[in-house]
Amino acid sequence: MKKMLLMLSVLVPLLGYAQREKTPIPTTEISENLFRLFVNNRVSVVALTGEDGLLIVDTGYEQTAADLGEKLGEVSTKPLRYIVNTHIHSDHTGGNQALGKGVDIIAHQSVREYLAKDKVQGERTIPAFPQYAQPNITFTDRMELEFNGQLIQLIHLPSGHTGGDIILYFPKNNVLVVGDLLFANYFPYVDVGNGGNPIHYFENVTWIIENFPHDTTVIGGHGPVYTIQEFKQWKLSLEKTFDVVREHKSKGLTAEQMKEQRVLKEWEEFGKFFITEDRWIDTLFPFM
Ligand SMILES: [Zn+2]
Repeated sequence: MKKMLLMLSVLVPLLGYAQREKTPIPTTEISENLFRLFVNNRVSVVALTGEDGLLIVDTGYEQTAADLGEKLGEVSTKPLRYIVNTHIHSDHTGGNQALGKGVDIIAHQSVREYLAKDKVQGERTIPAFPQYAQPNITFTDRMELEFNGQLIQLIHLPSGHTGGDIILYFPKNNVLVVGDLLFANYFPYVDVGNGGNPIHYFENVTWIIENFPHDTTVIGGHGPVYTIQEFKQWKLSLEKTFDVVREHKSKGLTAEQMKEQRVLKEWEEFGKFFITEDRWIDTLFPFM
């Protein structure tokens, strides 16, 4: 007994001081004063720093917000002035509560509507964000923001990944931040239940490619940073999957039969993140 007590008295303080494991957030300066923080090697947060302060695009997960906040302190000693949310999903808005106090939060109007409501998911209810963590500056089509010596463009592209996707263009850096309109190297997730559509998704990608300079850097929500040429290759490769699913559907195959026959086997590598070959078939099937 005495021995056990001794052991406990040694162990308890040790456990108490044990460091919580930190989230890996590899950080790269993509262009002068513009950083990509890759939260848990899964989701992008982009930070622009300068005279006026710090602006970030997306806030990662709720659970990684403290580590993200710390990392942002290494990138810039300036105060956080703006958060921009590219869309509603919790891996892009989850840090709003921890980081958003006293900060202006910008998003598409539908993002505020979504975050302001309680959401029932099966047995669970996800409560509305407190007001300070909801976007307080919203728009429906386009807006411009003069910050750190450049006129940042924010553009809504309807009905792609979700109904309220926005992209940002930083002209001084020649960098586009496109949120989940890019899952670099992978099949994208299309949130049909929240206004997404796989056909419009790639129409929006095409629009982006045609409307920005040919040497633009493209940062997506997931995966590596791309050149605009790589963005185009990704799009062209995935559009071929439309033809495959359409052809098989016209011959009378069901989605289940396509999965059994692995009609998208050629794109096997694209299925190794979040959306598998099977889920991509399910996404496309109703639209082909
Ligand atoms: Zn998303």
